[in-house]
Amino acid sequence: MFTLGVDIGSTTAKAVILQDGKDIVASSIIVATVGTSGVQRAVEDVLKQTNLTLSDIEATVATGYGRQTYDDADYQVSELSCHAIGAHFVFPSVRTVIDIGGQDAKVLALNEQGQLDNFVMNDKCAAGTGRFLDVMANILNLKIDDLEVEAAKAQHPAQISSTCTVFAESEVISQLANGTDIADVVAGICNSVATRVASLARRVGIREEVCMTGGVANNGGVRHALEHELGVTIAYDEKAQLMGALGASIYAFKKSLNK
Ligand code: ADP
Repeated sequence: MFTLGVDIGSTTAKAVILQDGKDIVASSIIVATVGTSGVQRAVEDVLKQTNLTLSDIEATVATGYGRQTYDDADYQVSELSCHAIGAHFVFPSVRTVIDIGGQDAKVLALNEQGQLDNFVMNDKCAAGTGRFLDVMANILNLKIDDLEVEAAKAQHPAQISSTCTVFAESEVISQLANGTDIADVVAGICNSVATRVASLARRVGIREEVCMTGGVANNGGVRHALEHELGVTIAYDEKAQLMGALGASIYAFKKSLNK
C-alpha cells in the first residue's frame, strides 16, 4: 500500500511516498513559497520517481503552514503532530524535537509513546529561524549549504548581539567592514540562532533523546552550537527536512488501516 505525505511550509514544499507505512520509496523537496506551484511540483516529482499515479495512492495527508492550500488531501494534520510522528519513527527514543523551519522554530516534548505532550513556538520573529540564516547568507554572498563549512573554520566566533534580524544584518555588515573573518562571522550567526532556540527549548524543558528536524537541522554549525548551549547530544538524520512529510505519510497509512 502506498501513502503520500505533503508538507507545505513557508519556504519549501516536501513530499514523501511510503510503502506499507515503513519504506520511503520517494521523496522531494522543492524550494518554493507557500501559495505557489511548489506542492504540485513536489508531488509530481515523487510520482515520477515511483512510476505511480495519484490513483495508486491509498491516502494523502497534508501538513504544514499551507496544508489548507492542497485540495487532493484526504486529511489535514498539524505539523506539530506530523513532526512528532516522523521523529519518533526515525528516532524511537526521542523525547524532545527541535524543529527549525523557514519562518518559525518549535520545540516539541514527546511522551514515551512518541505522542505530543507539550510545545513552544516562535513564529513572531525571524531571529532563530531559517529566515535569519537566509538573510545572512545573502549578505555574505554564500549558499545556505556553505554556512556549515564556513562555521567549522572559525577560530574566534564573532558576537552577534542584536536579537532583531534587521539590526543583526547591520551588525554583520559592520563586522565585515572591520575586517572580521567571514568564518568567524558565520559561526557567530549560527551561535545566535542556537541561543534563541535554546531559550525556547528551556521553556519546554529538555528531555533526552533530543533530535532536530526542519531545514536548519542540515546546518551542522547550528546543530553543534545548540548541543553546546543545551549540553546534550542532538540526533540528526539526513531526512530532517522531510520529517513532517514523513509523519504525514505515516499518519495516512495508519488511517488507511483503520478504514
Ligand atoms: P518550512 O517548512 O518552513 O518551509 P523547512 O523546514 O523546509 O521550512 O526549512 C527551510 C529553511 O531551511 C530555509 O530557511 C533554509 O534556509 C534552511 N536550510 C535548508 N538547508 C540548510 C542548510 N544546509 N543550512 C542552513 N539552513 C538550511
